[in-house]
Amino acid sequence: MTRPSMTPATAGEVFTLIRGGAATTRSEIGKLTGLSRTAVSARVAALQSLGLIADDEEGPSTGGRPPATLAFADSAGVVLVVAIGRSRAQLAVTDLAGAILAAEDVDKPVNVGPDDLMPDIATHLTSLLDRVDRKGDDVIGVGLSIPGTVDMTAGASLDSPMMAGWDGVALAPYLTSVTDAPLFVDNDANVMALAELSERRESAPNLLMIKASTGLGAGIVLNGVLQRGSIGAAGEIGHTKTAAARGMKCRCGDVGCVETVASGWALVHALQDQGRDVGHVRDVIRLALDGDGEARRLIRSSGRLIGDVIAGAVNLLNPDVLIIGGDMSEADELFLAGLRESVYGNATALATRKLHIASVSHGAQSGILGCAILVLDHLLSARQIDLRLAGGPGA
Ligand SMILES: [Zn+2]
Repeated sequence: MTRPSMTPATAGEVFTLIRGGAATTRSEIGKLTGLSRTAVSARVAALQSLGLIADDEEGPSTGGRPPATLAFADSAGVVLVVAIGRSRAQLAVTDLAGAILAAEDVDKPVNVGPDDLMPDIATHLTSLLDRVDRKGDDVIGVGLSIPGTVDMTAGASLDSPMMAGWDGVALAPYLTSVTDAPLFVDNDANVMALAELSERRESAPNLLMIKASTGLGAGIVLNGVLQRGSIGAAGEIGHTKTAAARGMKCRCGDVGCVETVASGWALVHALQDQGRDVGHVRDVIRLALDGDGEARRLIRSSGRLIGDVIAGAVNLLNPDVLIIGGDMSEADELFLAGLRESVYGNATALATRKLHIASVSHGAQSGILGCAILVLDHLLSARQIDLRLAGGPGA
């Protein structure tokens, strides 16, 4: 770790070294930061006062006193997670390392509106906390994602035509019966990008996440930082116009969007029009994996059409890796083959020279993991830890 030599490392920066596993003893911290033994001890003591560092003084008693091992106390609190999808919400409690301690799905569509869905979610979160023997006071933060554009300052949906009744409605007040901890809200593809970044921070700091489910969306990471754009609307690729969708009416109210020919809802409608008994994109995937010819054809075609749109984004951003998540990725090669063909065929040879295309690392848990990371990356950042120690916000 290289840092300006004139500013001594703060307690928050020392915490980052311990949390990331870069340092496990006081002398390692000293070597990495240039801090004196006294200064290291003072910072470690401050972190221990927050309960964030476990100090293992126990060790073999022979041969002198061994160096005490320092470790991040990942059980010092918990995070609540709510990944809201179009047809269900995935809930979880995680520890401070993002490991899932308990999880549960609430099968209720988002279009019932926040007054119907959020009280249900609050009830289930309380029972999840009970299940892991924790209380609202143990919660350091709540991470929530929605399938739409988010006003992060308001903690609300900004403009989501598909989520009737949610726009501008602050979501934090619905959860006050569960915990007083702060709520963080973000877009579903964005949190999936955060989950993927945690796996690939070193190997692929430029990452494009495509969520292909009922709707289509993207999360963009450049140089290890999630890009939300000017008003949070970056990545809304589902409503990119494409020739194959010319004149077709989209649920956003516009015509010609790629969603009308390639999204999960479009595939469901296409099969329903043929009199098939399907209600969700997961039904289409199941049919395809069972060998249904028409379902397979639709999924292949969807991969190609989405790939056409992504090719433009690949030219623009030159990502290291393109990650495919959401329900459609469960069809694996059936979906990926067409997408790969379109991306490599339509993007420039230069932009795709080193491009790697892969499925999400955490499958269906990608969204809940990303919501936990949204909270942890903020609340456990060096800056936030220093603010807490200075008696600032969150102290
Ligand atoms: Zn549209």
